[in-house]
Amino acid sequence: MRDVLGGMTRPVLAIALLAAAVGVAAQDFPVDVPGITADPGRPPPVGLLLPEVQQPELVTPLAILDRLVVPGTRLQLEWRPPGGISNAEIASPVVVARGAMPGPVLCLTAGVHGDEINGVEIVRRLSHGIDPTRLSGTVIGVPIVNVFGYSRGSRYLPDRRDLNRSFPGTRQGSIASRIAHGFFQDIVRHCDMLVDFHTGSFARSNLPQVRADLTNPDVIEFSRGFGATVVLHSPGNKGMLRVAATAVGIPAVTFEAGAPTRLEPAEIAQAVAAIERLMVKLEMQEDPNAGIAPPLDVAAIALVAPEPPPIFLDSRWVRANSGGLLISEVSLGQRVLAGQRLGRVIDPLSNVQRYILAPVAGRVIGMAQNQAVLPGYAAFHLGTETSEQQAVSEAAKPHAPEAVAEDSDERPETAKETDGEDFE
Ligand SMILES: [Zn+2]
Repeated sequence: MRDVLGGMTRPVLAIALLAAAVGVAAQDFPVDVPGITADPGRPPPVGLLLPEVQQPELVTPLAILDRLVVPGTRLQLEWRPPGGISNAEIASPVVVARGAMPGPVLCLTAGVHGDEINGVEIVRRLSHGIDPTRLSGTVIGVPIVNVFGYSRGSRYLPDRRDLNRSFPGTRQGSIASRIAHGFFQDIVRHCDMLVDFHTGSFARSNLPQVRADLTNPDVIEFSRGFGATVVLHSPGNKGMLRVAATAVGIPAVTFEAGAPTRLEPAEIAQAVAAIERLMVKLEMQEDPNAGIAPPLDVAAIALVAPEPPPIFLDSRWVRANSGGLLISEVSLGQRVLAGQRLGRVIDPLSNVQRYILAPVAGRVIGMAQNQAVLPGYAAFHLGTETSEQQAVSEAAKPHAPEAVAEDSDERPETAKETDGEDFE
């Protein structure tokens, strides 16, 4: 800037100043010509000699899946994997709410595992419930990414591959890899940030919780927006949607809620509320509590309290040490003391029962449903509260034990001893 101005001849500068003066005269409101007197030691940049007029940012239609979504409208589109993979199948619905005001593109995906239907309802409810005329930015909701698995009530693709180990995929790879590649190119590339909904897997249930790679500053910032929701550090596995998206600069997290193959109203409501808080934090939606005068009684104050902070947890699995029928004595979300009974395993052959005790105090953030188990089965997932700072510094340690290890396309029966048992 300085060089450009320094290179100007005096007559040119005079003309520029005259043009500025004419510009000022044409305004019907007072305008301070910026920069001229603010710092006498520093000449004003050339472009700022003219008065600044704040232009409202224009929102253009979004081009996606060969369609244009006009600002202030919602459109339901269809996504099909490339190469005719799904010609005989139902298409995956894609709901695009293009806000009337500018803002980020938030993507909400679910059903990457076809039997995890809580997320399907969460994304359906959110993406159809948003008013695009009052939205800043865009919400792209894909309730059922894996329509193959969904239509069969299965976690997997028809070839038994796990779609959530296949991202970002390749054009020439396996069926899973091609589907992942198509979805990544057609949908994920449009996102500025992404939340992928899952549930516990293999007859386990999870308290609503965000799984985030807390070694990534953008992901840390993103995970702060969900309000009083549990946040666990998890670097994730190769091929997970959130890992692949984050790797190309789209901060992404997994949101776990409940158990597979069932619809759980409480977990669904908690997740929907967390995303609504996130959208307020991202300034995509107005805070429904804004402008409400604080009430006088304490109970009502809690209802309009400012956004609560996330709850960062360390976690560990507690396993059954004997085989038999597992019967829990705690419930999801319950706080337990060290040494407290979590459940028992009854051997129906010998009629012996053994108790499973909590090794530490904490909160039950995941647990197996009552079922027949083998020795070593991971039955309870206990979380202990920590600070964000502590969670981030633990995550940064090179050989830190994984708070939530996840499988590499294996069933729990074949998972390594050191693995956790949470399969996003
Ligand atoms: Zn899943």
